[in-house]
Amino acid sequence: MPFIPMQKGFVYGPIASKRLRRSLGINLSPVDKKVCTFNCIYCHYGPTHVGQYELPTADEVTTALEARLKERPLIDYITFAGNGEPTIHPQFLEIVQAVRRVRDRLSAGTPIALLSNSTQLTRGDVLEAVELIDFPIFKLDAGDNAMLHEVNRPVAPIELDEIVEYLCRLDAPCIQTVMVAGGIQTCEGPPFDSWLQAIGKIRPRLIQLYSPDSPIVSEDIAPVPPERLAAIARDIRRKMGLDARPF
Ligand code: SF4
Repeated sequence: MPFIPMQKGFVYGPIASKRLRRSLGINLSPVDKKVCTFNCIYCHYGPTHVGQYELPTADEVTTALEARLKERPLIDYITFAGNGEPTIHPQFLEIVQAVRRVRDRLSAGTPIALLSNSTQLTRGDVLEAVELIDFPIFKLDAGDNAMLHEVNRPVAPIELDEIVEYLCRLDAPCIQTVMVAGGIQTCEGPPFDSWLQAIGKIRPRLIQLYSPDSPIVSEDIAPVPPERLAAIARDIRRKMGLDARPF
């Protein structure tokens, strides 16, 4: 299974991103472990670490960010992403507030983005932090619990209905979906229909559609043909009046 190396710092990049162009990443996970509430079948960071781990402090993150921004890198976004799920950090809200202060001082006008798996939206402090982020993007790959367990493989007790309910409470969020084909597939049939139903409830302002990145790390899945992703996006735009784009 070919996995990509972990991000070795609390701040990394900028990396070239299809959505976020030159994205300066912030990693709130350890530099040698993936810490996440999911263990997605397509994840390139290897298996999710379960057990003890240490997370960076707000000071460590802001010191690293200040040092990097003083080098004046060409960036389009500062993005919370990294080696796992950023919102599981218990001080996520404080860190977002501190990062905003550094951004305002050293890179005023650069928007802050978040790539999140949506599982921590039940926490009030995370909801408060999300309000402070210019471009939060939330994962929704499945429309029912069976596919959630096949594709995202939670390592904590998480129900799909609860994720959808909290996404519905946000004001038209941006949703990112990785669709899979092959032995486990979500791009057609009942798994696709249930995902579409969830999308209809959430009414996102934008749905970003992806196939798993190459190399595919599990034999149980295959890439979704680009024409299928394009057709799904087209149907969503035409039939549901929502913005959807394949990447
Ligand atoms: S949510 Fe992201 S980091 Fe977590 S397992 Fe899935 S792909 Fe990997």
